[in-house]
Amino acid sequence: MNPVLEVSGLRTHFGIEKRVLPAVRGVDFSLSRGRTLGLVGESGCGKTVTALSLMRLVPRPGRIVAGSVRLDRSGGGPLELLSLPESRMRRIRGRELGMIFQEPMTSLNPVFTIGEQVREAIRVHEPLGKKAVRERVIGLLRDVNLPDPESRYFDYPHQLSGGQRQRVMIAIALACNPKVLIADEPTTALDVTVQARILGLISRLRDRYEMAVLLVTHDLGVVAQATERVAVMYLGRIVEAAATRRLFKAPAHPYTRGLLDSVPRLGEEKRRLAAVRGAVPTLSRIPAGCSFHPRCPRAGEVCRRESPAPREVGEGHRVECHFPLE
Ligand code: SF4
Repeated sequence: MNPVLEVSGLRTHFGIEKRVLPAVRGVDFSLSRGRTLGLVGESGCGKTVTALSLMRLVPRPGRIVAGSVRLDRSGGGPLELLSLPESRMRRIRGRELGMIFQEPMTSLNPVFTIGEQVREAIRVHEPLGKKAVRERVIGLLRDVNLPDPESRYFDYPHQLSGGQRQRVMIAIALACNPKVLIADEPTTALDVTVQARILGLISRLRDRYEMAVLLVTHDLGVVAQATERVAVMYLGRIVEAAATRRLFKAPAHPYTRGLLDSVPRLGEEKRRLAAVRGAVPTLSRIPAGCSFHPRCPRAGEVCRRESPAPREVGEGHRVECHFPLE
């Protein structure tokens, strides 16, 4: 299957007081229609900055300094998003790339009704008449299973529950039928049952609209439930990527192993949960060699000196480690 979005060598830096903090350090992945890729890792590993880089919405003083983000256009050749003028990129956002942001309460404007906010997302891209837009908004609210969409249209965000607000955010992201949906921690603020419903909704809409989905999360349970493929990030690099089932069954990177061991499993004998030792270093002190070596139980001499090159350890299974797990 041809990828709809191909990311290669992406680097995003933050320049703060003459220091350069490399938040994303050469990231490669691709997204295919009808598939969900999970981007997982601890807080501060660069997941959200990667997602924002795809949209070219990195806040200052952040800057994309290298790489390529190519969007497939059926009929035409691929479009390099990083070199587009901002005016053109504005038309791509929403229309080709939709994004669900982390916090539905802060992402929705409290002084506009939800109907107005979804309507605005359509109006920016499509010159439809008033009645057609209203019908489209109500259709979208129905698609995201918001109960009684005709009257919800006139509600303000504070009148909705957390799950309902997230459904509105999804409706806004889907307003112009994008090819790629980027969901940044879409269920973090929700309780577990609502979380499961929102993840199910995203999967169903992905299939219906034939979108590619990038699901950014720190939650391995969400990854297991909602993705076909997963990429594990550590200090701005993807250190392991594989089909989700394979990665959970046979992780090859010691960091992935540590993350999996730190999660309790249903039905498992009582055991002390393992934690990845130490803390994530700051971006201003990224260790030389393999950046995970100060925390790695398998680290050898070479790990302190040389960054491991990516290698294949199985079909579609890539890892950056000098001594991958069997
Ligand atoms: Fe650990 Fe070395 Fe592999 Fe890095 S390269 S993860 S330090 S074994």
